[in-house]
Amino acid sequence: MSIEFTETNGALELIRNNDGEYVIISNPEYIFPEKEIYRLAPKSLLPVDHIEAVLMDMDGTTTTTEELCIHSLEYAVRQISGLEKPRDWAGLDRNEDYPHIIGNSTTKHVEYLISKYGSKAKPDSLKKSFLFAALWTLVYSRDMNRINEVKANIKKFLPQKSADLLLSFETDKKTAHKDVFEKIVKSTTKKLKDKLQIEGKDDVVRATIDIYYQRYHQILHRIKKGEAGKLQKELGLSTGKSLIEPMQGTAVFLPLIKGYFGAEAGKLLEYLMEEYRHKDPAFDGAESIDTYRENLSRIGKHFEDHPSKVAVVTSSISYEAEIVLAQLFSELRNIFESFKISSKRKKIILEKFSSPHNFYDAVITATDSSEIRLKPHRDLYSIALYKIGVPKSGFANVIGLEDSQSGTVAIRAAGVGKSIAVPFAHTQGHNLSGAALIADGGLPEIILKHNLFLKQNI
Ligand SMILES: [Mg+2]
Repeated sequence: MSIEFTETNGALELIRNNDGEYVIISNPEYIFPEKEIYRLAPKSLLPVDHIEAVLMDMDGTTTTTEELCIHSLEYAVRQISGLEKPRDWAGLDRNEDYPHIIGNSTTKHVEYLISKYGSKAKPDSLKKSFLFAALWTLVYSRDMNRINEVKANIKKFLPQKSADLLLSFETDKKTAHKDVFEKIVKSTTKKLKDKLQIEGKDDVVRATIDIYYQRYHQILHRIKKGEAGKLQKELGLSTGKSLIEPMQGTAVFLPLIKGYFGAEAGKLLEYLMEEYRHKDPAFDGAESIDTYRENLSRIGKHFEDHPSKVAVVTSSISYEAEIVLAQLFSELRNIFESFKISSKRKKIILEKFSSPHNFYDAVITATDSSEIRLKPHRDLYSIALYKIGVPKSGFANVIGLEDSQSGTVAIRAAGVGKSIAVPFAHTQGHNLSGAALIADGGLPEIILKHNLFLKQNI
């Protein structure tokens, strides 16, 4: 790394010498430059003779978890405003709000919500819901980063003596019992509510972030305990039967690019076409079925000889990714059981998918960077490329997959031109023009229609 001081003209010269597309990204209020400018790799769909790596977002691209995040964000707004029932407030607006609360950092999502809905917040509701979230995190959370952030907020919002009282519950083992916990919530709320000072937008954002995480992590906790079905009924969410499920095509895509199917990939065509129709009802494909099968087998064989590296790149924190991916892999193993492939291959696939860390070449999460450097910044993708060992000369052979605007921009800012958008219902309102391709048919379309960006003669 070298440091070179320059005036405006020198900076402009640098941009002039790198002709192409740039993005301007706004920073959070507490960062020195209001805006940053990034050069983007040129969009590319050029077919290549091999794929070196596939980098994939998690929420909304690999899994259906996005709906749980949105639910938790809406819950947080309801809590701080006391508008708990849909009759009090209809909830977040799919067209207006969703583009601002998907694919970015949690801080940015919450900042947006507070700018838009902050005026609905009632001091009493805000304080009560913060105290509950703080106590729950201290008592039940297994995520040290989260616990430390809550502790910092407790110290910021409360006078020292009151803060000490609240913090004492972290180490008190008895508090985890449900009845004891409820009593403590009641008594501390009574004692400390009026001592809390949550003032100004920044404080409200901090408190709301804690409320959001508490809800999301409580849901993940229960999914981990096997309560997904029960939860789904309670929350009335529209996701499939297990709350966390693979996005359409994932069960074929992931083993395929690792070469685990080999030439047997063609046997999965009917399954893949069904998944395609789920994603894009306009797809029929009946007339091309023989060509599709032949291509799918050839792609399978190609990847068996040239397996791709695969990394998941998510703005979720590591604690969340661990639970989400473990649940996803358990769902995937169930799907693999139903695949009509040779038992030898099935055994290998089940073994490789025994855990996410056994399968992925890298799992990059928000915990690898910091909240202020998440997508649309390039960092998570640059870290992934570095960790799996792809040199710059290999970037043309990398595919990046994302469902959101920030994600598709982050991929290109990291130097990867094959930035592919795989939108789903919740990200339809996103501006995905930064992507080289918007594949409404998701992963099945990328395999069947685009030959996974491989040359036809591979
Ligand atoms: Mg996403």
